[in-house]
Amino acid sequence: MARVLVGVKRVIDYAVKVRVKPDKTGVVTQGVKHSMNPFDEIAVEEAVKLKEKKLATEVIAVSVGPTQSQEVIRTALAMGADRGVHVEIPAAEYELLQPIHVSKILAKLALDEKADLVILGKQAIDDDANQTAQMTAAVLDWPQGTFCNKIEKTDAGLTITREIDGGLETIKTKTPAVLSADLRLNTPRYATLPNIMKAKKKPLKKVTAKDLGVDTSPRIEVVSVEDPPVRQAGATVADVDALVAKLKEGGHI
Ligand code: AMP
Repeated sequence: MARVLVGVKRVIDYAVKVRVKPDKTGVVTQGVKHSMNPFDEIAVEEAVKLKEKKLATEVIAVSVGPTQSQEVIRTALAMGADRGVHVEIPAAEYELLQPIHVSKILAKLALDEKADLVILGKQAIDDDANQTAQMTAAVLDWPQGTFCNKIEKTDAGLTITREIDGGLETIKTKTPAVLSADLRLNTPRYATLPNIMKAKKKPLKKVTAKDLGVDTSPRIEVVSVEDPPVRQAGATVADVDALVAKLKEGGHI
């Protein structure tokens, strides 16, 4: 019977058109709709399913970030997680927080909470780092199963199907382990209104990185953030010869 720790990150909602700050130090986050990172919804769903199948005893949702991060913990609780841990990082400091810090925090919590499984999203859609699961496994010295498409419990541990370039790979691992959820692992459930109400009463503990003994000083410095190049308008050409000439002119062929 396993205790599962799930990482839930609050990110700018996937449907929002992200704007770069005028000083190019980052993107505008104020007054912008935020939600749970979509891959984390999949991670929560998988953990809750393990509990429903009686393969897990408890699901703990962890979010590292400013006060508002509690919103995504509440969503995870409404989806079926049992309790939450909010690792509070002041907003200004959070802008400089990097996956290595989150990994060390999650690793410490995994040990403190005696977790057998850590399930994260494969990638946060804001930093696109795809580093946290891998580094969490490294810090803990636990096996990792990244980009999970299927997770099955066996007597010896877990059989995991991973999404890899052009196909699937099946691996076996013992627990404890760190896994990351890919898009096709499952379809996350919606939090229903009664469950949102119930989630308000579920326990949510607040700690700081300092309480966990994790130094959050930045390791890297963001030099600049740029908008993607504006797409040029298309043009119509009369025939194939004109198309070939245009492509040559542009240096494309
Ligand atoms: P990344 O390595 O930044 O692409 O993030 C991969 C995954 O790590 C996310 O999908 C989350 O599950 C987890 N994670 C990253 N940052 C946080 C955070 N601040 N709080 C909780 N979980 C996080």
